[in-house]
Amino acid sequence: MRIGVLAIQGDVREHRRHLERLGVDAPEVRRPAELSGLAGLIMPGGESSTIGMLMTESGLLAALRARMAEGFPVYGTCAGMILLANRVEGSRGTSLSWIGGLDVTVARNAYGRQVQSFEADIPVSVLGEAPVHVVFIRAPRIVTAGPAVHVLGRLDDEAVLVEQGPLLASSFHPELTDDLRIHRYFSAKAQRFLQDGAASLAT
Ligand code: GLN
Repeated sequence: MRIGVLAIQGDVREHRRHLERLGVDAPEVRRPAELSGLAGLIMPGGESSTIGMLMTESGLLAALRARMAEGFPVYGTCAGMILLANRVEGSRGTSLSWIGGLDVTVARNAYGRQVQSFEADIPVSVLGEAPVHVVFIRAPRIVTAGPAVHVLGRLDDEAVLVEQGPLLASSFHPELTDDLRIHRYFSAKAQRFLQDGAASLAT
């Protein structure tokens, strides 16, 4: 199985290494043609406005939207989640381009004003009893989530890991620790898409 990693900014190498440790091929994706043959895509963090602009220029954004209309699984972390969000509070920055599809409203840099970066243990019951240790870096906050959005993990009372059918999104970075469980969870989603098609992931 192959799961692509969007290679514009961010922890591309760390995401690829996590997938490869799970036995998944993890090619870098920069161009529309590189989406073919993939069972899913991970979008790392970075600066969402820049990533969105570059994805638009290369045609990748339109191509990805077309794949997502067929139920293609995508996991957006941090800036990747902002790009998947249907709504962003305030401005999206210099770029008006985003992907959408995830029925949430997010606020950019919402944890960053108090603390630039911090680590936390997040209980995620679908991943087992031990909490997941993750890193927040100028993280976006999920302000509202529609009824189709399933909250998998919370920090205090706020959703930080969510799922909507084939889409997975987190405010935090799961690639900076050795815990592979979130990548394994997304890989299982991609595997179901490959074997049973989009209907198996519909909410
Ligand atoms: N602050 C970034 C943004 O708004 C996201 C930060 C991150 O991806 N680590 O796009």
